[in-house]
Amino acid sequence: TRATQYPDKPFVLAGAAHDEERTEAGAAVTFAMLQAQCRELEARFRQAGLRPGDIVSVYMGNGVQTATLLLGAMYSGLVVHPLNLLCQPSQLRYIVEHSDTRMIFVCDETHDAIAAACAALSEQGHARSIALVRTAPEAIDLPALPQLEPALAQTAGTDPAVANGDWAPGHVVLPNDIALLMYTSGTTGAPKGVLLSHRNLLANARNISTEHRLGADDRVLASLPLYHINGLVVTLLAPLYHGGSVVMTPRFSARTFWRDVARFGCTWINVVPTIVAYLLGGDEPTGFDLSALRFCRTASAALPSDHHRAFEARFGIGIIETMGMTETAAPIFSNPYDPALRRIGSIGLPSGAQAKVIDREGRECAPNAPGEIVLRGEQVMQGYYKRPEETAKAFTADGWLHTGDLGYRDEEGYFYINGRAKELIIKGGENIAPREIDEALLRHPGVLDAAAVGVPDSMYGQEIVAFVVPRETHWHGAPDAHELRAHCLRELGRYKTPKEIRFVSDLPRGPSGKVQRLKLLAPAPD
Ligand code: ATP
Ligand code: MG
Repeated sequence: TRATQYPDKPFVLAGAAHDEERTEAGAAVTFAMLQAQCRELEARFRQAGLRPGDIVSVYMGNGVQTATLLLGAMYSGLVVHPLNLLCQPSQLRYIVEHSDTRMIFVCDETHDAIAAACAALSEQGHARSIALVRTAPEAIDLPALPQLEPALAQTAGTDPAVANGDWAPGHVVLPNDIALLMYTSGTTGAPKGVLLSHRNLLANARNISTEHRLGADDRVLASLPLYHINGLVVTLLAPLYHGGSVVMTPRFSARTFWRDVARFGCTWINVVPTIVAYLLGGDEPTGFDLSALRFCRTASAALPSDHHRAFEARFGIGIIETMGMTETAAPIFSNPYDPALRRIGSIGLPSGAQAKVIDREGRECAPNAPGEIVLRGEQVMQGYYKRPEETAKAFTADGWLHTGDLGYRDEEGYFYINGRAKELIIKGGENIAPREIDEALLRHPGVLDAAAVGVPDSMYGQEIVAFVVPRETHWHGAPDAHELRAHCLRELGRYKTPKEIRFVSDLPRGPSGKVQRLKLLAPAPD
């Protein structure tokens, strides 16, 4: 439909690679070209011997071709599986093996890592052969596909949930067909493969578009990777839904960010809290015309309130904080579009979903009382790939999805996240949200980053240890533990002041950049 509405309008434009001082936008795909390429891809997939419901992976950075391959595979009734470029070799082996993928699209930079993972798997006796398809850098032409061996046409071990029919004549993709297999960030354990249907994805493409009042004149800078649910749904599928355009940059760079926003006349940007921190630490966007920019959207982890205020004050662009999960095809909460109705520190109101806070017994909590956030909605996943027990545990008896996030709802209906259930500190029977301690520490000018965790304690059950990445400021050397504890005492009171401060040079982060708090105490062997 977009192809008939706006045939010649560019849908995906290649932003300049930031290591090159290119001034012009690179290749662009119009809506009509995208439609033609999707049809062509379907024919090629069929010729190669793939069948609807087969899983194909894309292990490539952001680019016009990556976007086309992702959309073309979904269009064809295949299940597309974007692979995270930052996976460690062991994670990569695990995911390639677990996903039952039949074909992996790679580029020059990623080919060797995948080839090594496949070789290691076949050494370990995993018989399945996987076709690697190498794509040319920056090309927008479709790659040729190899013919798969007929013996491989039947994929053993595939989850029965993934059965997208057959390519009989007149095959159409149905709303409940699985479109996407996306692994979670693995912040609290091994990544889980989330199965999302076309209906799930469409629901959120629509929610995002209405929530942020997006239309055909809008243009987003896609600096978040398409291998995350956020980048994929928010900056590719939503624009496809509302007929907007996407400027695809290879990866985020603080150096070129504002220049790209200005040069391409972007009307909105989609970031994560780490990017907010980088931009705050970067140069002023002087000399760039940012007048087209309407808002900055953030998700994926809590945005520290101080960063929120500092960003708005410094750049004059309002932030809309949202919250999403892989299990819900990205957003389920969003702050309102109207700046007067946004609440700093809140994830906002349920967005196209129903949400509530429940206690341990599953009863709904009163306003402001803490509990676990659960939700229900058209965007909620079909289950975890080949993990029926985990899927069952993910839902309450009456069908609400557990977020695993602790928080509360205020009297006006705004939701707040204090932290994850698995990361909650319980000291002397008192629940303490690590986020409260992190934020207090971050208010000290000598703290660059901080994460508090609970450690076993004979007296209180758990005690608080804070890991701090110090910052040397121009007026002051790095702070010492004594000074930081005194600061916490003032900010948090005695009970919540960490018993111990440990200085580290970095916090452990997963492949999506989130702090893996639970790894601070038990470093993984990988
Ligand atoms: P895993 O489930 O594998 O441990 P993960 O939960 O980090 O990893 P994702 O699906 O990428 O994997 O992230 C969803 C989670 O991110 C949410 O459950 C929530 O904890 C966190 N999150 C997202 N947005 C926000 C936000 N605005 N504020 C606080 N937390 C957020
Ligand atoms: Mg999770």
